Amino acid sequence: MKIGRFEVGGKSRWGVFDVDDGIVIPVKGSIFGDFELEDSSFKIEDVSILTPVVPSKVVCVGLNYRDHAEELKMPIPDEPILFLKPSTSVIGHNSAIIAPSFCNRVDYEAELAIVISKVCKNVSPSEAEDYILGYTCLNDVTERNFQKKDGQWTRAKSFDTFCPIGPWIETELDWRNLKVRAYLNGELKQNSNTNNMIFGVYDIVSFVSKIMTLLPGDVIATGTPPGIGEMKNGDEVVIDIEGIGVLRNYFIKE
Ligand code: MG
Repeated sequence: MKIGRFEVGGKSRWGVFDVDDGIVIPVKGSIFGDFELEDSSFKIEDVSILTPVVPSKVVCVGLNYRDHAEELKMPIPDEPILFLKPSTSVIGHNSAIIAPSFCNRVDYEAELAIVISKVCKNVSPSEAEDYILGYTCLNDVTERNFQKKDGQWTRAKSFDTFCPIGPWIETELDWRNLKVRAYLNGELKQNSNTNNMIFGVYDIVSFVSKIMTLLPGDVIATGTPPGIGEMKNGDEVVIDIEGIGVLRNYFIKE
């Protein structure tokens, strides 16, 4: 099932997206608890797709693909390397990624994102699946020069609009063998598979939950494969993850 948020007539709502029929069906209740489908529906083309959740935080894993570590000639980490993106960096499908003029090199990073379903603290890897609502696409937009210069990544990763997520959450998905792709202006730039992940989804959720309490709607980005690259003013960037869908955004350099 594909669930997310949309806006129509100035009102934001949760809904279930039926991509084959091109419709979204509003839901009554909470996507984090019990909900029912309403009798009405809208054409997807007639609504604005919003961020599928409003996370309190976005936790990210750095360097989690074997093929990317080899590309960078970096050793395989023995524990996940974590950093945060602020909630204010989150934008949805079809929104603009906007980089201030003092940014120099702004890159896309295609990532599978985990969406948390309920309060999650100190869970084991075998328990982690119970705390996952589903999966979405995420673009871990990064100012590469600031990342290198600062020695830590807060400035590089945290600009407003630097965390596109969406277009919706797929709740029934086996994360272990999914194609992860990024396209820049239609050209394939990243092309890997989640089977190259160093740390799997359940190990990551468990690891993060032993550090901080994860809340419903929180997002964990699982790292990017090889092929990251720079966006220029006016570029279209697409993150396409098998079984989820296509997250499309535009890059604006101020
Ligand atoms: Mg990343």
